[in-house]
Amino acid sequence: MTATRVLVLNSGSSSVKYQIVDMADGSRPAAGQVERIGEEGGAADHVTALKQVGDDLAAQGFGLDSPELAAVGHRVVHGGTRFTEPTLVTDEVLTAIEALVPLAPLHNPANLTGIRAVRELRPDLPQVAVFDTAFHATLPEAAYRYAIDRDTADAHHIRRYGFHGTSHAFVSRATARLLGKDPSEVNVIVLHLGNGASASAVRGGVCVDTSMGLTPLEGLVMGTRSGDIDPAVLLHLQRSAGMTPDEVDALLNRKSGLLGLCGDNDMREIGRRMAEGDEAAQLAFDIYVHRLRKYVGAYTAVLGRVDAVTFTAGVGENSAAVREAALRGMGLLGIEVDAVRNAVRGSAARLISAKGSRVAVAVVPTDEELQIAQEAYSLVTL
Ligand code: AMP
Repeated sequence: MTATRVLVLNSGSSSVKYQIVDMADGSRPAAGQVERIGEEGGAADHVTALKQVGDDLAAQGFGLDSPELAAVGHRVVHGGTRFTEPTLVTDEVLTAIEALVPLAPLHNPANLTGIRAVRELRPDLPQVAVFDTAFHATLPEAAYRYAIDRDTADAHHIRRYGFHGTSHAFVSRATARLLGKDPSEVNVIVLHLGNGASASAVRGGVCVDTSMGLTPLEGLVMGTRSGDIDPAVLLHLQRSAGMTPDEVDALLNRKSGLLGLCGDNDMREIGRRMAEGDEAAQLAFDIYVHRLRKYVGAYTAVLGRVDAVTFTAGVGENSAAVREAALRGMGLLGIEVDAVRNAVRGSAARLISAKGSRVAVAVVPTDEELQIAQEAYSLVTL
């Protein structure tokens, strides 16, 4: 019997999500998540959460001891400049991921706990780290270098890394397929709009710019993150408002974005409030959309020729209102959305552009688990 199953583990800061992907047919025989780690009513810590994942899998008949398991694929948030490809986990790789903790203090430790927990239970099972930053490793220096003193930047590894890379890779390739083309033939702007949100410019399958930076804070307006902001605001808050660095961090990452603007970070709730004439919700929506439109324009300029603009993730896949507002009046750029197609709900990859729109507009459900499973599987079956 050939082992065709890959366990995909996504150990986040407060949750662990898991899926078994069967590479023989793409099916998902088991999936689930452990939430609220470290919070009341949740697992005490990541070690406990991963034990629970092991128990859940065993209860579903897919225990870690299963001979059908070919590999475990781990989403690892920060790969720094070193990890630009899926990587087989060794002691040395673990140490290198550990060394990147200062760049992703919430995420990389959680990812490491997941890898170590599996190692303890199944030391013989190949584990593959798939990095959220990897797809953006191709950014040219003009796009990834911040315009600050070079020596300071280099000494502290300060540059644009970008995140959501697995999703941007999957969605840009799926967009090419939807257009009946090879990824090398198309230029795509991918708008990953979930609770976290990022845009990327992908030229011929190669990422050339992305909106998240050193950390996932930069760029678009998100559920709870501010996105782009004048860095002097941070200094002002510390000098004049007496806030500590940790307080500024919490403000920008957890109490800003849609939540900070109107008290809700769920686009469904914001839509409901807008329908009732709620002004704060309307303004939050308008600010969110204004930023999005600026990135579409910027990445059109970066790419020169755009073949498709693709929406993905929770908001991108579900909110026709955001899609419509984000691209309204962009006929001069060759972008025209068809109102009827845009309004149709669905779970399949689909085109929503108007007939005759020079640029295709697409909705492509992201599938990071499948992408991670494919990358892990191809590495261990080479
Ligand atoms: P994600 O991080 O990709 O899981 O996206 C989560 C976000 O997607 C939620 O916070 C909502 O804002 C948004 N979302 C989910 N479903 C819908 C929907 N039906 N309409 C609008 N927004 C939605």
